[in-house]
Amino acid sequence: MEESLRRQYLEAMGIENWVVRDPVPAAVTKIVETAASSEPSVAQELPSSQVVVAAEQSDQGLTPDLDARNDVAELDWEALKSRVVGCQACSLHQTRTQTVFGVGNQSADLMIIGEAPGADEDRQGEPFVGRAGLLLNAMLKAIGLERGQVFIANILKCRPPGNRDPHVDEANGCEPFLLRQIELVRPKVILAVGRIAAQNLLKSDAAVGSLRNCEHRIGESRIPVVVTYHPAYLLRSPDQKGKAWQDLLRARRLL
Ligand code: URA
Repeated sequence: MEESLRRQYLEAMGIENWVVRDPVPAAVTKIVETAASSEPSVAQELPSSQVVVAAEQSDQGLTPDLDARNDVAELDWEALKSRVVGCQACSLHQTRTQTVFGVGNQSADLMIIGEAPGADEDRQGEPFVGRAGLLLNAMLKAIGLERGQVFIANILKCRPPGNRDPHVDEANGCEPFLLRQIELVRPKVILAVGRIAAQNLLKSDAAVGSLRNCEHRIGESRIPVVVTYHPAYLLRSPDQKGKAWQDLLRARRLL
């Protein structure tokens, strides 16, 4: 991409005069960090005392309930979408305006996975359409990608009331849908944005600050997962955007 254009996009991300000081190390970096210095939930702050260690390599994701997985294992896009639209597996169906299936290129090289629909997404039926979505679009542009070139989905297909964290049963209930989406897209790289996405995909309770520095692969195809901060968090903590930029560069290198 042309240098001046990249600068424009970086400015749109809120990163001005960026300089890469420490190239992302090729080797996996293992770090220990308190959750207090990591990304809190989109909706809530994390407790400050928890100490977590990120796994050096994770290939333990993608282990949902087998019956539920088998139930959607053969579905094509259309059938999968209608299954999601009609889903009443958890109580979120009672409070949703509509389900938010996912959007984008169904053969994308890059798949973005977020947390759950918020109020705007619940209204419009599309992931990442609010302020966080605008920043996500700018982040993608910064690595030379249009929103329509990637596939965007969430851990949950329905909005949790008040944007609270997804409950375990809700995330588990939704997981087969997401796993089938990943199987259908067959991305080269998954970008997990935020704590909820990263922890659910990687079956970890480590903080984003730890997970983003590790190399992860999930599923039989061992798809690389790059973890980064959630755009909503970056809107509240713009000083973290430089790290997100490093993560984006790492994701782009894997494409
Ligand atoms: N935050 C998310 O994680 N996903 C969305 O779709 C919107 C906001």
